[in-house]
Amino acid sequence: MPQKRKVAILGATGAVGQRYIQLLQGHPWFKVEVLAASERSAGKKYKDACNWTMESELPKEIAEMPVADTTVESVEKTGKVDLIFTSLPGDLAGKVEEEFAVAYPVFSKAAAHRMEKDVPLLIPEVNPDHAALIPIQQKNRGWKGFISTDPNCSTIQMAITLKPLMQFGLSQVMVTTMQALSGAGYPGVPSLDILDNVVPFIGKEEEKMEYESNKILGTFDGKAVQNAKFTVSASCNRVHVKDGHLESVFVKLDKKPSLAEMEEAFSKFIGEPQKLKLPSAPQNPIIVRKEVNRPQPRYDRDAGNGMSVVVGRIRSDPILTMKYMCLGHNTIRGAAGGGILSAELMVAKGLA
Ligand code: NAP
Repeated sequence: MPQKRKVAILGATGAVGQRYIQLLQGHPWFKVEVLAASERSAGKKYKDACNWTMESELPKEIAEMPVADTTVESVEKTGKVDLIFTSLPGDLAGKVEEEFAVAYPVFSKAAAHRMEKDVPLLIPEVNPDHAALIPIQQKNRGWKGFISTDPNCSTIQMAITLKPLMQFGLSQVMVTTMQALSGAGYPGVPSLDILDNVVPFIGKEEEKMEYESNKILGTFDGKAVQNAKFTVSASCNRVHVKDGHLESVFVKLDKKPSLAEMEEAFSKFIGEPQKLKLPSAPQNPIIVRKEVNRPQPRYDRDAGNGMSVVVGRIRSDPILTMKYMCLGHNTIRGAAGGGILSAELMVAKGLA
């Protein structure tokens, strides 16, 4: 087991920051040392700065911790840390993450750096070899640390399901999402906008699903990632569900698989985290349900401790080739759990 790393969480009071705190309780490799948030929260005890919305109790030792602001100076004054998890608003994350990356490994949930050529956009089961961008980034930028990013929450679960379909020759993807409220952060969408309603627009979400997938499933050629060639068309909706994004996915494949071949491709898929037995790796990245009415957010979002993507309703499509539903927990696999798994991979590879 590697030596336990002390970590700071920037954005610790938000929907994703709280999930980081919850998932890092008792983690064998990482210990929460510093919590940081906006000027509104800095200087307060965590319990007074945050409206804790996790299902489990706010841990006592976390409740009493002071909140730093998100400057390097404030974090270093509050505690000595080895690596940084960030879950900050996208417009703010860019600059803050660069300041920390000079000296620290930074694992980011924000969009700011995702598409930069020397920054990995990592899903450990899908593209662990893209971690090789780190030494290139450090050389380019003269940093001792680095920035590693995770994809957008709705992209992560879809990309995990697309990976085992690449063997059939993937050329087109159409996806319609039904996304949970916690995906909009806290307090998120006003209740009067979403009660008894579906909102057929999520700012910048469709664009992210359309361009991030090609980088994630692209090939690292030793110097850079060459994007995968398929096209994605996305239509994103906010629905009245607390956690768990449900997606309806249609794929065009060069070779039409049978239903049994599709099911086998999904359920047998494993990646490096499973082979390395990383602490947060689910046994099965994809779980296939056979019932006609699954997956459903309420019943399936916690599969594999929220780290498995649940696929169901696999069937032939008369316009493209095949179609299916997939569901993932947006603040676990789509956010904090994904960030922790990326950090575990980097530690296992000796990069963090
Ligand atoms: P959130 O609930 O709104 O939390 C935002 C966090 O950032 C809070 O801790 C907040 O601190 C802090 N913050 C806000 N303004 C700040 C400022 N000016 N300076 C320093 N800190 C500031 O948002 P979230 O849902 O956790 O999302 C965080 C990031 O993760 C976003 O980039 C989002 O796109 C991404 N993400 C979210 C999800 C999801 O499912 N929610 C999934 C994937 C990715 P205060 O409490 O002090 O305001």
